[in-house]
Amino acid sequence: MAAALLSLDEALEKLLALAAAEPILACESVPLEQAQGRVLAEDLIAGLDLPPWPNSAMDGYALRLADWQGEPLAVSQRILAGQAPQPLAPGSCARIFTGAPLPEGADCIEMQENCELLADGRVRFLQPLRANSHIRAQGQETRAGQRVLPAGTRLGPVQLALAASLGQAALSVRRRPRVALLSTGDELVEPGAALGPGQIYNSNRVLLGSWLRQLGCRVEDLGILPDDAEATRARLAQAREVDLILSSGGVSVGEADFLGQVLRAAGELQLWKLALKPGKPLTCGRYGGVPVIGLPGNPASSLVTFALLARPYLLRRLGVERVRPLRLQVPAAFAWPKAGGRREYLRVRLEEGRAQLHPNQSSALLISADWADGLLEVPEQSTFAEGDAVGFIPFSEVFG
Ligand code: AMP
Ligand code: MG
Repeated sequence: MAAALLSLDEALEKLLALAAAEPILACESVPLEQAQGRVLAEDLIAGLDLPPWPNSAMDGYALRLADWQGEPLAVSQRILAGQAPQPLAPGSCARIFTGAPLPEGADCIEMQENCELLADGRVRFLQPLRANSHIRAQGQETRAGQRVLPAGTRLGPVQLALAASLGQAALSVRRRPRVALLSTGDELVEPGAALGPGQIYNSNRVLLGSWLRQLGCRVEDLGILPDDAEATRARLAQAREVDLILSSGGVSVGEADFLGQVLRAAGELQLWKLALKPGKPLTCGRYGGVPVIGLPGNPASSLVTFALLARPYLLRRLGVERVRPLRLQVPAAFAWPKAGGRREYLRVRLEEGRAQLHPNQSSALLISADWADGLLEVPEQSTFAEGDAVGFIPFSEVFG
């Protein structure tokens, strides 16, 4: 039985191969303030040395080491950040502040805490001096012409600040992926409306919609699909100008799983049964030429399959290299004595560095995902004892 299931790693490999075969290549130039979360389209090459000139790491005094025989030195100039210094007068030192350019001829800076300003205006150095101390060398961060960020880098605050430090006001990024989002199920009602008998509020629409937007996607919300083949066909036909149709629900082999039926009839459907818990059924296919990923409907299953499969797929279509979330090793605060056939992702919270298990791991629950800090990864056919190190994916790795 278990042999018929596709492992998560195999499913991810397949999805990443599909993504790499259909990259979203178009790009646009956006100002740095709007580039957060976007994917760099071209290598960022430094146009200047960083720092552009040697400068002081301290408030203190700059001197030429060879000029100093242990006697106090006269102060010949004062250099603040933003000023252009004169060459250092021989036999003197310069008052200098953090970030100010090193004057030509100086090769050493002493911090002011180790200096004594004498009544006659000269400076006594209280400790032995070393060459190059407290000097930030020109080009220590990067040299002009060097590649600072490769194409495919996802832009966060650090990458944007690096671009700013190189004088870049805008960056070329891949255009936003357009994703048509569908929720399926006759039982679904949008928040704000009244619930009829047997109905529940649609939570996946907001879960996936907000997550997609954080990923930088443009979401075309196609709303709730009734469990009806004709309506499903008509709604799918609206999703033409998109890069992906992402649906939730209706993908198992139940009678009411119309999305699966319609895609099957269109002839380009792979129904995957994953060795994954939560999140066994997953649809992957094309409709009218557009790639489709159908996530399972249970909210925790949607969450796990989006985090581990759909998110990496979308990022890879944008050319991102590192799409797998970081896994940390953390000790478990509980034992897992019974091996399962499917890889399991448990909602856990870190308390004093140990992973605590939420008592209710039902795939229908979101509340345990709110409580949790992330997912503990229990490989297929494996057990662990309390205190053993187990793979842990923080939610902060996959949200956004
Ligand atoms: P399905 O995959 O359609 O069989 O749905 C599995 C379970 O997830 C059922 O209990 C559905 O009611 C629930 N479900 C499906 N879609 C959603 C949704 N968009 N929001 C909340 N629950 C859903
Ligand atoms: Mg359904």
